[in-house]
Amino acid sequence: MPAELLDGVAVARTIRDEVARDVLVQKARGVIPGLAVVLVGEDAASSVYVRNKGRACEEAGMHSVTIRMPVTTTQGELLAVVDQLNADPAIHGMLVQMPLPVQCNADEVIRRIDPAKDVDGFHPINAGKLIIGEKDGFAPCTPAGVMELLRRYEVKTAGADVVIIGRSNIVGKPMASLLIQPGIDATVTICHSRTRDLITHTRRADILIAAIGRAKFVTADMVKPGATVIDVGINRVDEPRAKNGYVLAGDVDFTTVSEVAGKITPVPGGVGPLTIAMLLRSTLVAASRVVVA
Ligand code: NAD
Repeated sequence: MPAELLDGVAVARTIRDEVARDVLVQKARGVIPGLAVVLVGEDAASSVYVRNKGRACEEAGMHSVTIRMPVTTTQGELLAVVDQLNADPAIHGMLVQMPLPVQCNADEVIRRIDPAKDVDGFHPINAGKLIIGEKDGFAPCTPAGVMELLRRYEVKTAGADVVIIGRSNIVGKPMASLLIQPGIDATVTICHSRTRDLITHTRRADILIAAIGRAKFVTADMVKPGATVIDVGINRVDEPRAKNGYVLAGDVDFTTVSEVAGKITPVPGGVGPLTIAMLLRSTLVAASRVVVA
């Protein structure tokens, strides 16, 4: 029997509607939640992400600022913009879109962002808060979106064996931190490029989360029948017949895996839309923490 589809578009829509409603609550106390996105250079995919973030903010009734800087921007110039946004009371959340040009040091830029405005959750203070379970930080938006998807589809995490493929700071590691928190109570295994005999791990997963960056890497034989499969991957695959010359594919071979899995996210339309929805929500949370005199 084909797997049940976990509809990220629908869940993201619900979250964005909730955010829009709560934005009104903030406005009523005189705070307009504001998000600033800094884009350095002309990367086509980044431009699309940034444009979508801006539109989503405006649709939710938030204040949105996009700062576009040339590809020749120096580290000093970028840090000066971050400082400016840190000091701007109209901005509650900010992010610097990655990747940055080679002359910029991403780690230094991330560390310069005020942790209270770091709605991407990449600052080491927020990464630390996530691990120790402090609720006043920010979790990275993509794994936070996966948690929302699991929660709203009532996928049981308590005692579940979860296997995550990928150990990045953006997805794999924070995903594991979220899943092991008391109240969520999953048993988590993180696999990566040096994992021996990957399939023995993946085949015992009740929930399998793929964040690898390789199209159709997870095949049906790697999946336990009935498992929930979450595909974080977004990969461009050449397709001469497509308008742009490529199509998007996840890290999971959807056609075959959906015959084995119990629940599965599609790509596109799965985890992707949740990332922006969670960014809006984190910005709202940041704004709600502002004390009004
Ligand atoms: P990354 O390149 O930083 O990490 C990839 C991970 O995969 C690494 O930890 C590596 O060890 C692991 N890996 C690589 N080859 C492997 C193999 N053969 N076996 C086991 N593990 C292997 O990538 P990332 O930033 O974590 O992103 C992963 C994917 O998720 C990408 O496709 C990216 O585009 C996508 N992504 C999507 C969203 C979203 O909004 N949906 C957000 C972030 C990332």
